[in-house]
Amino acid sequence: MDSCFEYEMSDIEIEDPDMIYAYPGNKIAPGGYIWVFPKDDDRANVGVGVSGEKGKTAKYYLDRFIKSRQGLNKGSILEVNVGCIPLGDSLKELVKDNLMVVGDAARQVNPIHAGGVHNAMLAGKLAGSTAAETIDLEDLGILKRYELEWNSSKGRQLERILRMRYFMEKLRDDDMDYLAKFLDGDDLIRVSEGEWGVALKKMAKHPRFLKLLKNFL
Ligand SMILES: Cc1cc2nc3c(=O)[nH]c(=O)nc-3n(C[C@H](O)[C@H](O)[C@H](O)COP(=O)(O)OP(=O)(O)OC[C@H]3O[C@@H](n4cnc5c(N)ncnc54)[C@H](O)[C@@H]3O)c2cc1C
Repeated sequence: MDSCFEYEMSDIEIEDPDMIYAYPGNKIAPGGYIWVFPKDDDRANVGVGVSGEKGKTAKYYLDRFIKSRQGLNKGSILEVNVGCIPLGDSLKELVKDNLMVVGDAARQVNPIHAGGVHNAMLAGKLAGSTAAETIDLEDLGILKRYELEWNSSKGRQLERILRMRYFMEKLRDDDMDYLAKFLDGDDLIRVSEGEWGVALKKMAKHPRFLKLLKNFL
């Protein structure tokens, strides 16, 4: 379970409002990252997710970061959003009798970037259409199709991404700095979607990652 704290901020300086900014690091946000997701030229969601196992609160890490950044520390806070995000293994049993679970309740969250809106919408759509068919055909057994379809498609992808998260948890801050030199934005997006082939090939060229990769594969 990651602990998250987010401000919607205005009157801030954003280098490029068409980019999203992510700051991982064991000191900056243990087990997670700080994000700046621009919504406009001078307005953004500025938040943090940290592992629930660490000592300090998510708010502590976010406030400390904002205070240290010139472009942010004079901004205004419009809104505060807080909550937990379930990370780790997804629920495998998504249907029981006449009940279906979707979204955070089913832990259908991307284990690397902790985004859950997209998956919750996909699962909701799939569960909704399965429920409609169940009502039409008056057969409760049809509900299980939602579980089967999810687990064999998106569920599998989330499992792959979780393995990558476990690998990333082993990285030190200097490993991450090093990686950032030869993995570009596209590589990182692919990794967060469970397609790590290109990134692994690039990492395998560097002796310092070979040992870590051996344990991962
Ligand atoms: C601070 C923060 C920032 C985030 N930022 C992002 C982001 O930028 N992008 C992203 O993809 N994900 C983000 N997430 C994760 C994302 O919000 C969730 O993964 C997503 O909202 C899950 O959708 P859901 O429908 O499963 O649950 P929710 O959005 O939590 O919806 C559940 C709803 O059920 C209602 N409810 C609960 N109990 C009951 C009850 N007994 N009866 C009736 N209603 C009930 C709740 O009030 C709520 O409205 C963030 C999470 C946090 C905490």
